[in-house]
Amino acid sequence: MLYLTYRFVNRGIEMITYLDCCSTTPIDKRVQEIVIKYMVEEFGNAGSRTHEYGLKAKKAVNIARKQVADVVDSKPEEVIFTSGATESNNIAILGLKEYGEKHNLKHIITTPIEHKSILEPINFLKRNGFEVTYLPIGINGRVNSEDLEKELRDDTLLVSIMHVNNETGIIQPLNELADILEDHKAFFHTDAAQGFGKEQHQLINPRIDMISISGHKLYAPKGVGALITRRRGYYSIPLKPLMFGGGQERGIRPGTQPVHLIAGLGLSAELAKKEYKEREEKCLEIRKEILIQLKDKNIIKNGDQAHCIPHVLNFAIPGLDSETAILKLKGKVAISNGSACTSQSYEPSHVLTAMGIDANIIDSSLRISWSSSTPTTLLKNFLS
Ligand code: PMP
Repeated sequence: MLYLTYRFVNRGIEMITYLDCCSTTPIDKRVQEIVIKYMVEEFGNAGSRTHEYGLKAKKAVNIARKQVADVVDSKPEEVIFTSGATESNNIAILGLKEYGEKHNLKHIITTPIEHKSILEPINFLKRNGFEVTYLPIGINGRVNSEDLEKELRDDTLLVSIMHVNNETGIIQPLNELADILEDHKAFFHTDAAQGFGKEQHQLINPRIDMISISGHKLYAPKGVGALITRRRGYYSIPLKPLMFGGGQERGIRPGTQPVHLIAGLGLSAELAKKEYKEREEKCLEIRKEILIQLKDKNIIKNGDQAHCIPHVLNFAIPGLDSETAILKLKGKVAISNGSACTSQSYEPSHVLTAMGIDANIIDSSLRISWSSSTPTTLLKNFLS
C-alpha cells in the first residue's frame, strides 16, 4: 500500500479531494524519507571520487539505476537520469537529429495525441527538413498497428508513440507496434510518463529502444526522470547530447546528478514493481465506486475502456460546461479537463479532437485520476 503524506489537501476546515494524479502524484512517505536523507545527511556529489561522501552518493545513484531498469527488464547502464519526461522526450527526438541527417533517415512517425514535449521537438525537426507522419487515432483513443505498417518507409528514423495517454488513460498497443517494427531498423521510442510502473506488460518488450519516464507521476518528486535507452547488441542508440559540460549520464545528460531526487525515483520504481498488483486492484475498486456514484449522470466515457489504465477516467456529462464545473468544484475536488501543461488557457483538447469526438462532448468532458490511496468516502462530494 502506498504511504501518501497527504491524501487530500487540508485548507482550513475544508478538505479537497485530490483527483488529478495524471497531473502529479503526492509523494510516498518512504520516498520522502530517502529524498531527505540524500539531500540533508548524505549530501555528497556522485562525481567526487576522492572521498566517502562522493562514494556513498555514487552508490545511491547506482542503486537507483538498477531499480529503474528492473521495472522494464533493462540494464542499469541503459538508464540516463534527466530532469523529467519533457527532457527525456527532447533527448530521444532531437538527440537523433545528427544521425538522421548523416544517414539520410529523415522521416518520423508519431501520433497527434502525444504530449507537447513530443509534438514540439518533432515540429522543430519538421522545420529543419524532416518529414513527419501522424498516425490516425480512432474514437477508441488508440493507434492501429496496420496504419504503422502502411506508413513505414526505408528512411523512417524514429517511431515515437506514447504508452498511456495523459488525458484519456488509454493504453496504446505497443506490443503490436513492436511486432510491426520487428524487421525495420527505425528507432522505437515511447513516452511512458503516465504508465511506467503502472502498466507492466508492454514496456519490457525489447523492441522498444527508448522509454521516457517521470518521477512525479509515480509518487517521487518533481524535477527527476529518466530516458531508458536499450542497446541493440553491441550498439548504443546513436543519441547526441543537447547540453555540454560534463561526462555524467554517459555524456548524454551532463550536469551534477541530483542524488536525492534520483534516489527517490529509484525507490519509487522499486515500490511500484513490488506493489503493482495490489495498487492496480485498489485502483480498479475505486473506479467501480466512482462509476456507481456517477450512475445517474448519463456519462459518456471517452476512449475504449477495455484499454484504459485503472486509475483514469475521462468522461463527458452531456450539457455540462466542464470549465464551469471545475470552477464550481474548486475547494471541494481537484480535477481537470486536460493536461496541466496546457491548462493555463482553455483550448479544446487536442487529444479528444484527434479522436474525432464531437466539439460539444469535448466541452463537457472532465478527467479524473486517482491513486490506490485516494480515500473513496470523500468521492461522495464529487458532482453531488
Ligand atoms: N509526457 C506525458 C504523457 C505527460 O503526462 C507529462 C506530464 N504531464 C510529460 C510527458 C512531461 O513530464 P515532466 O513533467 O516530467 O516533464
